[in-house]
Amino acid sequence: MDENDFYDIVVIGGGINGCGIARDAVGRGFSVLLAEKEDLASGTSSASTKLVHGGLRYLEHYEFRLVREALMEREVLWKMAPHIIWPMRFVLPHHEGLRPAWLLRLGLFLYDHLGGRKLLPATKVLDMKTDPAAKPLKPMFSKAFEYSDCWVNDARLVALNARDAADRGAEIKTRTEVTSARRIGDAWTIVLRDGLSGNTHEVRAGLLINAAGPWVDKTLQQTVGENNARNVRLVQGSHIVIRRKFEDPRAFFFQNKDERIIFAIPYEDEFTLIGTTDHDFEGDPGKAAITEAEITYLCEAASEYFTEPVRRDDVVWTYSGVRPLYDDGASAAQEATRDYVLVEDGGENEPRLINIFGGKITTYRRLSEAVLEKIERILGRRGQSWTADAPLPGGDFDVAGFDGQVQALKDSHPFLEIGHVRRLVRRYGTIAGQIVGNARSYNDLGKHFGADLYAAEVDYLVANEWAVSGEDVAWRRTKSGLKMTEEQLSELSAYLDASKPHHLKAG
Ligand SMILES: Cc1cc2nc3c(=O)[nH]c(=O)nc-3n(C[C@H](O)[C@H](O)[C@H](O)COP(=O)(O)OP(=O)(O)OC[C@H]3O[C@@H](n4cnc5c(N)ncnc54)[C@H](O)[C@@H]3O)c2cc1C
Repeated sequence: MDENDFYDIVVIGGGINGCGIARDAVGRGFSVLLAEKEDLASGTSSASTKLVHGGLRYLEHYEFRLVREALMEREVLWKMAPHIIWPMRFVLPHHEGLRPAWLLRLGLFLYDHLGGRKLLPATKVLDMKTDPAAKPLKPMFSKAFEYSDCWVNDARLVALNARDAADRGAEIKTRTEVTSARRIGDAWTIVLRDGLSGNTHEVRAGLLINAAGPWVDKTLQQTVGENNARNVRLVQGSHIVIRRKFEDPRAFFFQNKDERIIFAIPYEDEFTLIGTTDHDFEGDPGKAAITEAEITYLCEAASEYFTEPVRRDDVVWTYSGVRPLYDDGASAAQEATRDYVLVEDGGENEPRLINIFGGKITTYRRLSEAVLEKIERILGRRGQSWTADAPLPGGDFDVAGFDGQVQALKDSHPFLEIGHVRRLVRRYGTIAGQIVGNARSYNDLGKHFGADLYAAEVDYLVANEWAVSGEDVAWRRTKSGLKMTEEQLSELSAYLDASKPHHLKAG
């Protein structure tokens, strides 16, 4: 170990919270290393419902602090990344016998007025006898409410935070597990294990951040040696993806008889995303997978509303994630707080550890600021809050500028099919032109893997976004996997395997 192996801060976990903290910290002048044992966003951060939302339902649990902070973040995040975050309108049909109309109206009034809404349109009432939103639904609703939230490509939000952190000087190491962290003298000695080579390497740090998401307790127990740690409640949530069920660009917010709610959201042009479930989870969060009972629950809940039932055979893809909710002793899974809790660990003269419990994609930036406040109290002040006005890579254009970006890319590369141009701008924003470079035809983009995935894009992801496997590319950096055959997915994996040493370049 030499002097170069000392960092002000080592972050465990490359989910949204770890990457958000690393970005904020390096931008203030701290030296930062982030270690992620698998791929960026391979944990909970790619398995969310993908909403930047206040959380209308949390109002029922009186989580006003969280809802207000989250509502205010909607427009902040949208401006930081208008390529991967955009407004969405939600239709909430009023269902006789479930929550009364006055309660929905009150909740939505609060939602509109609790804070931060400047650009997003307000709630309105829909006449379901005439509104096109009623078209795919059973003819049993006379009224619905339509309100605003935002959509986010969750996995890309993580990758872009990591990219920006690296551009500012952070070391981002994926496929790198923190296997041990011990206080030795006035610093942490941390063992990193490279998942590709199996080699281990030691570094030292002034401060350690445990942002291991659903592995936060396991990391405390097995990596830091705090055997009795038990702070989070693991709650599994699953989604199903079906072929598009409706043409309307709005999403649906359906109430279920068990008082839960599910969303049906337009997804990746040709699909509808339906979720989520909510039940206590035990075991390795990396192995969470949808159960048959969850598939049945989601199909039945959606079929209560859609004229055309959602059947098991309609399901083309599923995913499951595990919420690491702070264990506040609440009885039902859906009642545990969705708010985040930061807990500092370490005595007067000991190097400190900050544990992150809970959190949402929506509040990751505010969580990072709160962590930085603690860090600066411990290590000394280095900078100011800066992330609210700093666009993420590719997001340096106006919130109303998406169509302009699409037009510009189409003009510079007329051979690209318009749907492909839109998808590239959605993924990469102002960087999309860099990916297609000087290509004059589809042949110039290199090998075609299926859907609209070409070698030019895959190579970009390998060189700039730590993509290592077919799964990283097909299911996290892009969702091309939804439109590819098994054979095409294997070819993509083989291509990435063949160029493995090349991947060590990312960083
Ligand atoms: C079903 C579901 C729906 C949701 N919907 C929404 C939503 O619509 N909007 C919203 O705002 N939020 C939503 N959330 C919440 C949100 O997804 C999570 O709060 C957030 O992703 C947690 O991020 P994280 O960084 O803490 O954890 P993770 O994303 O799980 O990241 C932790 C990382 O740490 C790594 N790791 C663990 N141990 C080690 C180690 N020893 N060494 C190195 N790396 C390690 C893991 O591999 C993992 O990648 C949802 C959650 C679920 C489950």
